[in-house]
Amino acid sequence: MVLPTLSAESPRPGNVAVNSPPPSRTGRIFDIKRFSTHDGPGIRSTVFLTGCPLRCAWCHNPEAFVLHGLRDSPGVREVTVPALVRELERDLPYFDRSGGGVTISGGEPLCQPGFVCELLRTCRDRELHTALDTCGLVEPKALIEAAALTDLILYDLKVMDSAAHAAWTGQPNHTILENLQRLNDLEVAVWIRLPLIPGVSDDPRNLDAMIARLAATRFRRVSILPYHRIAEAKYQRLGLPNKLAGVEPPSVERIEDVRARFAAAGFDPHIGR
Ligand code: SF4
Repeated sequence: MVLPTLSAESPRPGNVAVNSPPPSRTGRIFDIKRFSTHDGPGIRSTVFLTGCPLRCAWCHNPEAFVLHGLRDSPGVREVTVPALVRELERDLPYFDRSGGGVTISGGEPLCQPGFVCELLRTCRDRELHTALDTCGLVEPKALIEAAALTDLILYDLKVMDSAAHAAWTGQPNHTILENLQRLNDLEVAVWIRLPLIPGVSDDPRNLDAMIARLAATRFRRVSILPYHRIAEAKYQRLGLPNKLAGVEPPSVERIEDVRARFAAAGFDPHIGR
């Protein structure tokens, strides 16, 4: 397997953030998706930050792997918290009517912990509902600080076997599972997100291991996110190897099997959101 190469500017598990993040009013984003109904409750605006410690073979946003964006990605820009919040508040009427708000995603948002915490703090001051979408491979202090400032965490779980996780994402999963346990001890709401990747995460042993792990937590809401091929053109454009080239999305029946497996185990599974 050939994974995209980590660059020197690419955060790794050991140096994502060493201490509690200093506040930062400037951050780097590569997109804002308005009117999203897949990234938390209601109608939301999702802000995508650059930088990620993982290299998931199915990633839809490979241009965000590094903080400055790959190949001078055109959407990458620096923003200040006040300017970003002003932009997001244009959709306040939709948030209010739908019970929605702002989702901070990426990349891995906590690669920019000071900016994320400042953004969450400002949104809270302005009574905007927030969700933080994280891969979990982040410095625990940053996660705990962000968890205290957000209304909801969207927490990715992919592959439960650590060696297989490393093969498919570039990193083992022990920190991710430890951080899952840390969140379990806090009060923040958490929705688990499972990218359903044929031949990777849809293996029955992987699903059973995930169910067993989650059964020991307070988390019951599971979002099943079926793989699709929308990013194939991006990999070609960026000249990155695509390990999943030609892999078909899971069938409707397979998706329903997985949903039923979680439901039978007492979870609250949802497809695509
Ligand atoms: S964690 Fe998300 S953004 Fe990072 S590589 Fe995986 S899919 Fe892409």
